[in-house]
Amino acid sequence: MCGIIGYVGSRPAKEIIYSGLQRLEYRGYDSVGIATLGKKIKIIKAVGPTNKLDLDLVDATATTGIGHTRWSTHGKPTETNAHPHSYGLITLVHNGIIDNYQELKEKIGQPKLKSQTDSEVLAALIDHYYNSKNNLIEAIRLAISDARGTLGIAVITKDHPNQIVVARRGSPIVIGVGDKQNFVASDSSAIVDHTSKVIYLRDDQIGLITPNSVELFDMKLNSQEVSIETLDNNSELLDKGQYSSFLEKEIFEQPTSLGNVMRGRVGSDGSIVLGGPNLSQSEIQSIKRILIIGCGTAYYAGYYARYELEKILGLQVTVEHASEFRYRHGALEPESTLAIFMSQSGETADTLASLREAKRRGLKTMGIINTVGSTIAREVSHGGIYLHAGIESSVASTKAYSSMVVALLMFGAFVAYKQGRDASMTRKIAQELLALPNEVSLALENKSQIDKIARKLSKYDNWFFLGRGTLYPVAQEGSLKLAEVAYINSQALPSGEMKHGPIALVDKKHLSVLLLPEDQLLYKKNLSTLEEIKARGGNVLTISSRPKEKLSDFHLELAYSGEYTNGLIYNVYLQLITLAIATKKSLNIDRPRNLAKSVTVE
Ligand code: GLU
Repeated sequence: MCGIIGYVGSRPAKEIIYSGLQRLEYRGYDSVGIATLGKKIKIIKAVGPTNKLDLDLVDATATTGIGHTRWSTHGKPTETNAHPHSYGLITLVHNGIIDNYQELKEKIGQPKLKSQTDSEVLAALIDHYYNSKNNLIEAIRLAISDARGTLGIAVITKDHPNQIVVARRGSPIVIGVGDKQNFVASDSSAIVDHTSKVIYLRDDQIGLITPNSVELFDMKLNSQEVSIETLDNNSELLDKGQYSSFLEKEIFEQPTSLGNVMRGRVGSDGSIVLGGPNLSQSEIQSIKRILIIGCGTAYYAGYYARYELEKILGLQVTVEHASEFRYRHGALEPESTLAIFMSQSGETADTLASLREAKRRGLKTMGIINTVGSTIAREVSHGGIYLHAGIESSVASTKAYSSMVVALLMFGAFVAYKQGRDASMTRKIAQELLALPNEVSLALENKSQIDKIARKLSKYDNWFFLGRGTLYPVAQEGSLKLAEVAYINSQALPSGEMKHGPIALVDKKHLSVLLLPEDQLLYKKNLSTLEEIKARGGNVLTISSRPKEKLSDFHLELAYSGEYTNGLIYNVYLQLITLAIATKKSLNIDRPRNLAKSVTVE
């Protein structure tokens, strides 16, 4: 996971690196560190996020430096384990996991290490080769050839004062190109203030960066072509503005982000125009099965869409945890299966590994991604859909979730249209989608009423989220959000599963959030669930488009926005509940403990 930033130029590196690290904190915030390369290398580290660093201690004159914000995989989040790590002549920051670090340690004769990290072993290995070859690029090439696992690294040495060397396998590295200055980062959000010209390092590439040049090499040390891309400047989106947290800001941005994902794609006449999916008419006709693959919130967005896509397309749609997909061995028909990979960052390691596995099995692959130019976006075989949700800074995803659901609904309507299915259905989906940003705005207006109830609910330590049909995945996403942001023990269940075991947990200290749907039949079935919980002394918050049921203890009413989109209105309410409870508990809303946003380790 972790964030990497580096600068080489003529300005002091200190501030550039520090502000870059603040931008990258969403990738991890267990510890932080900066190494500057002036007359000598000076390293300053701290446990916790960037503001724990004593900036006064950082060399203010050095014009070359690297920084790191860590999400620990090997070794506790201590100062010693914080990056940058120095060994001999080498100082590096590393993003990823070196799987065979024990073996490598042995190979170089059990070096004396200070930390417990796999990363320091890599520094020692590079130093080992540097001592014998006296060529840094060659030493890095040899070391990363020996290493198994994932890595994105930035390396400095006092032998080369104005130079950073980067390399990647699996973990992203982007090089920012400036005027007599260059940058490196694990993603462009850290450098958008300084340049919009970037080079995405590819796997098994090494980059040699000085203030005036960028050279790229492959693993045979052949020189590689440098292709510079231009970024959209999103830096103004990195300000919290009037909101108390990025989570709140991003929840309230949803009317805009939903508008953005549909812009130019959904017509009021019911047409859906998607330029991103790269599927020929005959490929679209041949789709018999859709696999949606993602992690966490992206997985739940796929789960929501599964119910709707099955209804829209009459096809089998399955959703897989990316972390499990590789261990599933069911027969897949490459001819007729489309696999869709969901990732906000486009760098999620498990999702990327599943994508590569799916390609190996010959499936057609598409991405639904927020970050333009990210690894998954570039590696899918059949294009995809960008969310255009803007930078999502809070670790817990909100606006990317709702945009992912909409992207999949648009895709469903698009395929239905191309497959010659009922045109009135695609029109209905398009109309519902176009009305959604406004429906979400209206839902957000209920914040103070939701806050009031949420504050009362904050006394419950154990929760169920219950729903049927599409409201089951909505319950799953609501439960995840509450657990990750408000640290409340919660489980999501299909309402009908309660009686098969979980109801044993219900007592007078237990809260169930029951999502009651518009559909009459399902509504009635859920009322039985309400009865069953109340009969066992449990407490129930019902959320529905109908008035309060007598039995429910708490109730929130919402608007019915239509059969395809209504789950997203429930989702807004659940997002606001989590926000209110985490606020009441004075938690670090944007940076929940133990988490990181872009999960680039498997
Ligand atoms: N494996 C390294 C560590 O634990 C890097 C983790 C990261 O990517 O943040 O220090």
